Formats: sequence, structure tokens, C-alpha cells
Amino acid sequence: MGMGTMQPVSCLICGDEGPGLDIRGRRICSSCEELLLYLPVGHDAYEYCKERIKLLWVD
Ligand SMILES: [Zn+2]
Repeated sequence: MGMGTMQPVSCLICGDEGPGLDIRGRRICSSCEELLLYLPVGHDAYEYCKERIKLLWVD
């Protein structure tokens, strides 16, 4: 493995470097993933997460 290819990927939402879902080189950690599943739509935190997730599709 070459140098510089293993940068720690931190969660897009909370900045945690734990395991999670890797999407296009970015990550959503398992706790945030779970949070999204249970947060009611329209909840402030849900809206915040949603905004952060939109960044996944921005290059
Ligand atoms: Zn997270």
C-alpha cells in the first residue's frame, strides 16, 4: 500500500473515525447511520444529517 492512501476517514456527520458506511470515499459511522433510521423526519437533527449527507454528492 502506498503512502498517503490510508488517510483516516471520519464520519461526515459527527467526525468520528469508527467503522461505518463508506460512500464515495466519505463515511457515515454506524451510530449516525442508526440515528438516521430512528430520527423522525422533520426533526432538527434529522434535517442537519440530511444536509450533511447532501455533501456526499458534491464533488
Ligand atoms: Zn457519525
